[in-house]
Amino acid sequence: MQQIADRIFLFTSVMQQLNTVVIIDDEYIILIDPGFFPQEITEIQTFIRPWETPTRQRFMVITHSHFDHIAGVSYFPGYQLIVSEKWDRANEQRSRARLERFDGEFYVDRPWHGLLSPILSNHTVRDGQKIGPLLFFATPGHTQDSLSILYQDVLIVGDYLSILEFPFINHATNDYETTLRLFLKIVADYPVRLLVSQHGHHAQTLAEIKQRVVVSQEYIRSVRRDVQNTIDQHLSAEYLTNKAASFEYLGGMISVGLVEAHRRNVLRIWSEYHEADPRTQNTAEINYINQPLQNT
Ligand SMILES: [Zn+2]
Repeated sequence: MQQIADRIFLFTSVMQQLNTVVIIDDEYIILIDPGFFPQEITEIQTFIRPWETPTRQRFMVITHSHFDHIAGVSYFPGYQLIVSEKWDRANEQRSRARLERFDGEFYVDRPWHGLLSPILSNHTVRDGQKIGPLLFFATPGHTQDSLSILYQDVLIVGDYLSILEFPFINHATNDYETTLRLFLKIVADYPVRLLVSQHGHHAQTLAEIKQRVVVSQEYIRSVRRDVQNTIDQHLSAEYLTNKAASFEYLGGMISVGLVEAHRRNVLRIWSEYHEADPRTQNTAEINYINQPLQNT
């Protein structure tokens, strides 16, 4: 556990360096994406227990419906659950199935058998809505139901702007780019000092936050360029996906574990180009894209 600001604590899982944000102030206890492994969750429960007084309201926010983010929900029954009004029930269902497969494959013991129960939220929030000390932003692109949260001068952005990974575009590239521009507007409009991405180390300066936005924008531009060039040369999507392993990002090759995620991004952008021009649509590629996603 590390304290990153007054009243704000981060618990980082060994699972994809997933960050759980814990906010404890005079009136509220707020958990954001509580996860992932049971022992890690016990550590969070133990930490917050002394602060769970009757006068503090308890909230839990889930930034989006991927399996690593929802795994801890049922461990905190007294907490009011907040999700986006765009919550993706179908994606949640895939995530619950994926969690069950993961737990079965790696023998993770949890206090239930089979599938995690469906997520029952107490509040669904829209863009610009406030609950207690939290201000919510709709930030689609990674998923349609991605939420970002501002608490005082700390912006929490779910799976965006991670130093560990390039953009994982599971919803729509245009929305993803709009969200990246929104982050720049938020840091211009509000006195944001820290940015927490849900995977990996947080950003501690405004310059670093902006740099992360630029890096994500450049990644998308670069994939778009590759797709456009491939189309111009009348080559296939397969030609491009075959080159995925040698794609360069931040001055080096992408890690072997992320090649598949990059390949999916390529195919998504490819299919988005062809959706704009149905004469060239290749349904086999679109079907591949619409398979249950393994990204987080
Ligand atoms: Zn995710």
